[in-house]
Amino acid sequence: MSDELKVKFWGVRGSYPTPGAGTIKYGGNTSSVEVRAGERTIILDAGTGIIPLGRELARSTPALAGGARERAGEILLLFSHLHHDHTQGFPFFVPAYMPNALLHIFGPGGTPETLSAVLERNQSTETFPLGLREMASTKNIQSVRESQVIVWDEAGIRLAESAAGLSDEAVVIRIHKSYAHPGGVYIYRITWRGKSVVYATDTEGYVGTDRKLVQFAKDADVLIHDAQYLEEHYRGQLVGFPSTQGFGHSTVTMACEVAAASEVGRLVLFHHDPAYTDDMVAGMEATAKNIFADSVAAYEGLEIVLRDENKVAMPLQSASHLPLSQRDREQWK
Ligand SMILES: [Zn+2]
Ligand SMILES: [Zn+2]
Repeated sequence: MSDELKVKFWGVRGSYPTPGAGTIKYGGNTSSVEVRAGERTIILDAGTGIIPLGRELARSTPALAGGARERAGEILLLFSHLHHDHTQGFPFFVPAYMPNALLHIFGPGGTPETLSAVLERNQSTETFPLGLREMASTKNIQSVRESQVIVWDEAGIRLAESAAGLSDEAVVIRIHKSYAHPGGVYIYRITWRGKSVVYATDTEGYVGTDRKLVQFAKDADVLIHDAQYLEEHYRGQLVGFPSTQGFGHSTVTMACEVAAASEVGRLVLFHHDPAYTDDMVAGMEATAKNIFADSVAAYEGLEIVLRDENKVAMPLQSASHLPLSQRDREQWK
């Protein structure tokens, strides 16, 4: 069994997908991130990035393709919230159509049924040819509370009220509910074998930094943080771009402030504005590096590998420094 905690980015864009010549380096798919804890696959959000990820999982995971008598292929999918850019890829997620797949799907919602009701509506007969219940996989869909802890260990995937008594071998996922986005958003902290990744997308910074988030992300190895806007855009000082204050997204500076205050190992700028070109995102990354040195702008194919023996963070490389053909193969050890 692999002992690596891996993070791979499949969709890094906010709001809506943006294919085209101006977004080739960073990619145009909406939010979806794969976290691998050894052989366990956890997916953060189902923007259009989950579509190529689903194809890859279907191809590379024998348990998904196996006969009905074999062990089911389990996948844990977590929604930060249920805005379009975080759900729109799910109807095209190939493992959801595979009879041997067992999908545990958790996210926010007022009642335990809220999440399944939203996913069902996304595939109503008026809007999509196949309903959620017609997808052949087995699905365990539940809205979860902030106070709950998601656990994945030898006994499988379950919700618990605390992480007390669990071994280092268990994948433990804590939730912080942030109100810094319209309707609220879940921020997740995934921990396995002493390594932690925090996923904080769709969140706006506060004056003096978001103290609760800083506490939640404290000492994480990787912080994935919303950094949708240029400072001038956020303030309404960029020609053609009205102010976005209050939209529930951060500037690069806000992301860097959280990273510095929580003393994380690395910061990944995430949820790029769909109107921004590669050059603009590259410029934002340069700004970030000046404030928090271990910063990188997320791009499709970016892979971060965390291993026990690697206590010292290596400098991060950027999409802009790599020819396209190498990007998918690049790894940080
Ligand atoms: Zn979003
Ligand atoms: Zn949103």
